[in-house]
Amino acid sequence: MNGVKTARSSPEVDFFLTDLLLTDEERAIRDCVRLFAEGRLRPVARQAWEDAEFPVGLLPALAALDAVGRMVKGHGCPGMSNVAFGLVLQELSRVDSSFSTFFNVQAGLSVTTIATCGSEEQKTHWLPRLARCEAIAAFALTEPDHGSDASHLATRAVRNGDDYVLNGTKRWIGNATICDVAIIWARAEDGIAGFLVEVPNSGFSETVIEGKLAQRGIWQADIQLEGCRVPAANRLHQGGFRAVAQVLTISRHYVAWHAIGEAMACYEAALTHALRGEQFDKPIAAFQLIQAKLVRMLGEIAKAQLLVLQLGRLLDQGRATPGMTAYAKLSCAAMAREVAATAREILGGNGMLQDHDVMRHLCDLEAVVTYEGTHDMNAVIVGREITGLGAIN
Ligand SMILES: Cc1cc2nc3c(=O)[nH]c(=O)nc-3n(C[C@H](O)[C@H](O)[C@H](O)COP(=O)(O)OP(=O)(O)OC[C@H]3O[C@@H](n4cnc5c(N)ncnc54)[C@H](O)[C@@H]3O)c2cc1C
Repeated sequence: MNGVKTARSSPEVDFFLTDLLLTDEERAIRDCVRLFAEGRLRPVARQAWEDAEFPVGLLPALAALDAVGRMVKGHGCPGMSNVAFGLVLQELSRVDSSFSTFFNVQAGLSVTTIATCGSEEQKTHWLPRLARCEAIAAFALTEPDHGSDASHLATRAVRNGDDYVLNGTKRWIGNATICDVAIIWARAEDGIAGFLVEVPNSGFSETVIEGKLAQRGIWQADIQLEGCRVPAANRLHQGGFRAVAQVLTISRHYVAWHAIGEAMACYEAALTHALRGEQFDKPIAAFQLIQAKLVRMLGEIAKAQLLVLQLGRLLDQGRATPGMTAYAKLSCAAMAREVAATAREILGGNGMLQDHDVMRHLCDLEAVVTYEGTHDMNAVIVGREITGLGAIN
């Protein structure tokens, strides 16, 4: 048939050839990050997960990719498209969900917050150092009783002379134990505000959350703020829950790409096993039921790839809505969780082992489904956008 290819030999998980829709620069960034992920990250990812250790030693190599500060143009950061940034997350999470989450806390949440809400001085001071990973940042919004309910923060910031004094507790904060600056969201007299808390600070202490069975290769911590003094100059210029929502709107797009990277890894592992593993004297890939599973996995990944690509372009044009990124996050995370579970089934008993990485992805995806708004909370954001009716205050 004219123009229709009948067989596929490419191992790339890209059924609808979305690669054709990328710019040369986007392809180059993706390939460069893939080299780092395969060459440097893969050799340490399984052990880091088993030991619940973050591979700090990889940070200089990550910084050398010149990707961390790239969402911003200026202040020592070269700038790149939202699609390129999504591809970075896809390539990292394809190998290691924990490391990709580190990247998103540093380069997504924290850099984006300072770039969109910070003063010129704050940007000049922090962005180049964060971009080079010479300083590590944490983004501290969640509290023990205010996760989904983040707009009702209990942490207080009270003005005292030239300082603010912060009191409260934060929970689940990525990078908190290794950070040089923590972006603490708190309730000030005039509403929610972000504060750049430079660490160490005598009023700031943190404890790693132990016993975590997802993304074990990145540390999250509880933060105690007890009389934590911060110069008033460290208050972010733009505040209010609107500022938080603006950052999360962008970041949810990146989480969607992250989820797709994990789904791609699980599909690849399942296909490889199905072609190699034999039962009833045939490769298990020859059974219709296995093929139906592989088709569903690949099809769902392909739909998600097209979705995030279009969303990235809309973000670049300033036309994406909070509902769009919330939908991308919830649907891609749910898709990846289902793909990982199906891949685990296709691997049979071997799927339990670290060797194939699928079980690690399956566990790690529980974190992805939960952070940056659970499935339900993101559905509420989409629901409000399409009905005009807020389901919660
Ligand atoms: C690995 C990991 C890393 C994280 N990293 C960070 C970080 O770096 N910084 C940070 O600030 N936070 C971080 N978080 C926190 C994360 O954003 C929260 O866990 C998430 O928002 C959910 O909040 P919660 O855990 O308090 O659960 P809850 O809000 O208590 O939710 C529990 C359940 O109730 C449901 N629910 C709640 N309210 C409603 C409602 N109105 N309608 C219907 N259902 C509802 C939820 O959907 C969920 O199923 C991280 C979490 C994890 C697990």
